[in-house]
Amino acid sequence: MSHITNARVTAVEHLTDRLFSFTTTRDPGLRFHSGQFIMLGLEVNGRPLLRAYSIASAPYEDELGFLSIKVPDGPLTSRLQHLRPGDEILLGRKPTGTLVPELLEPGERLYLFATGTGLAPFLSLIRDPDIYARFEQIVLVHGCRHAAELAFRRMITEELPQHELLGAEVCARLRYVPTVTREPFPTRGRIDALIEDGRLAAMLDLPPLDPAADRAMLCGSPAMLASLRTVLEARGFAEGSHASPGQFVVERAFAER
Ligand SMILES: Cc1cc2nc3c(=O)[nH]c(=O)nc-3n(C[C@H](O)[C@H](O)[C@H](O)COP(=O)(O)OP(=O)(O)OC[C@H]3O[C@@H](n4cnc5c(N)ncnc54)[C@H](O)[C@@H]3O)c2cc1C
Repeated sequence: MSHITNARVTAVEHLTDRLFSFTTTRDPGLRFHSGQFIMLGLEVNGRPLLRAYSIASAPYEDELGFLSIKVPDGPLTSRLQHLRPGDEILLGRKPTGTLVPELLEPGERLYLFATGTGLAPFLSLIRDPDIYARFEQIVLVHGCRHAAELAFRRMITEELPQHELLGAEVCARLRYVPTVTREPFPTRGRIDALIEDGRLAAMLDLPPLDPAADRAMLCGSPAMLASLRTVLEARGFAEGSHASPGQFVVERAFAER
């Protein structure tokens, strides 16, 4: 059996000139855990051109959702950004990844730190009942340069609290902190700075990050991951792995080529 399958695009939404989201049909046989990524792409010159993509929809949903960058000269996204409903895309059959709670020791609070399209896996996790069963509080922090890039804000702040099954949990236990670096916004600054200068804890009215109680998942640019890793390790957090669960886990939102 081929490791690639086909799916059909069902909807496309352009969020900014650098960002779009789309949904596809889902093979009923495709199983995944919230937080995982999958290979996704197009056939180009008769050959598959695939890239890693985090699944932004919840595991119980009938369709698959994705959030994508548009890299102007990117081999895949220069083409992918022209997708229309009805188009076919290629999908890998084996979702994988490290942003799964099994790699974390049990804890009280789960911090989800994202920049840019690093939000995508957390859009799946915050819609998964399992995460609310495991943690008393979920704190989603999303950093972008411009406010327009804070994708899915309305879904997080308006639709999810009204969700038929999850709404009550979300209202009581999900905190959302959008932060912007390059223009005026209620919360301004990089995520590492918000942690280090105590603003994040103050605005949430929570104690400073502590490996005894807190767990963290990181997904963002290589620079964001490097700086947050330093911040967490300085506070005594250890990275989790399949061999040994820890207090934080990391996934790249993209690789520098
Ligand atoms: C585990 C994993 C999960 C990923 N999940 C997503 C996802 O959910 N959504 C998504 O858009 N991309 C995601 N990516 C990145 C994705 O695999 C591709 O790099 C992206 O689609 C661009 O493909 P491309 O062929 O057009 O350009 P590429 O040749 O892949 O990239 C060219 C350059 O564009 C920049 N770049 C690539 N992706 C991004 C990005 N997401 N944000 C900012 N700059 C970027 C980098 O500087 C890169 O060197 C993920 C990557 C990894 C490793």
